[in-house]
Amino acid sequence: TFQSSAALQRINPSPTLAATQMARDLKAAGRDVISLGAGEPDFDTPDFIKEAAIKAIRDGKTKYTNVDGIPELKQAIARKFKRDNDLNYDVSQIGVAPGGKAVLYNALVATLNPGDEVIIPAPYWVSYPDMTLLAGGEPVIVPTTQENNFKLTPEDLERAITPKTRWLIFNSPSNPTGAAYTQDEIKALTEVLMRHPHVWIMADDMYEHIVYDDFVFTTIAQVEPALYERTLTVNGASKAYAMTGWRLGYAGGPAPLIKAMAKVMSQSTSNPCSITQYACVAALDGDQSFLQERNAAFKARRDLVVDMLNEAEGITCSKPEGAFYVYPSCAGAIGKTTPEGVKIETDEDFTRELLQAEGVSAVFGTAFGLAPFFRVSYAASIEDMCEACTRIQRFCASLK
Ligand code: PLP
Repeated sequence: TFQSSAALQRINPSPTLAATQMARDLKAAGRDVISLGAGEPDFDTPDFIKEAAIKAIRDGKTKYTNVDGIPELKQAIARKFKRDNDLNYDVSQIGVAPGGKAVLYNALVATLNPGDEVIIPAPYWVSYPDMTLLAGGEPVIVPTTQENNFKLTPEDLERAITPKTRWLIFNSPSNPTGAAYTQDEIKALTEVLMRHPHVWIMADDMYEHIVYDDFVFTTIAQVEPALYERTLTVNGASKAYAMTGWRLGYAGGPAPLIKAMAKVMSQSTSNPCSITQYACVAALDGDQSFLQERNAAFKARRDLVVDMLNEAEGITCSKPEGAFYVYPSCAGAIGKTTPEGVKIETDEDFTRELLQAEGVSAVFGTAFGLAPFFRVSYAASIEDMCEACTRIQRFCASLK
């Protein structure tokens, strides 16, 4: 009989996938389901990027490449870090992988020893704790609060650091809350990190370009240059360029770490798709103005969703600075009963009954490590978002 490894038994299957499956099953059964579960922009990859990929195919760029990225792409990434983040990385300090997820995983595999601790503020992107476990480390979960807009405080960071801390994983703007840290908020955290030279920082900047209301994005190594030597600045094409299916992530960091990550790739995935890499050169070097148009659409949806959710009984929703998620509390629904007589005791009960009653699919907060909340992705049309929120209001009003 099949038996998985001890390492695999330490991790959970993705709860977001389970939620998506339930929605898919209902849809297959003929129900009208609106999914608020998507982790990807609903926009298409811009045409100029597609054209660059088609050209790469025609030019025969279809073979193995350097394991961790073609030089042209590393140079484009270096230009991007300089332009957007005022960070100087030369090509020996830049690594490319098949997705931001792969970048993060390779970095953890390349650095963690058994017992090494990784600080992960909650709510977190679901993969951080499980990747840490797979790589042999120990996740140290630090809860945040809605009152503090789901942002890690310097005091909580200080308390979480031990002699075994290897990494802080820092994600701004955040999946699942959309919260983005201001430069001052980051500075307060870097002051703590400066006192603990053994702690390295993984800055997951995947949603850098999706911010609203003139929010100015900054990243750790930029805010505190003294942390440059122990920061891995991670980014990727998925969210900014609506390229989730193309699989490309990249990072800038200390050359020995970048080399170690390439070593992991050399014996696992090898290089990211050659065609994708050429397309990403075009993406990074091309006209970025389409980002503003897309953000204007995202912002209109965010404002609608936040307003409509706050009108639902028992729901309170903060207005985040970025990404395409909100993370409303359903605390006011806990303890109530549906018309069918089901008592809502957890956020998982809430999202399951919401799906059953109204055909709206969202992911329960426990999956992201902070309850009772749920994650709403507004990467869907404004009409769908409006309809979904109307249904959520109706569901909440039906609870007694
Ligand atoms: N980091 C965060 C916070 C994310 O939400 C995601 C994708 O959902 C990723 C990293 C990884 O994205 P990808 O592997 O598509 O580059």
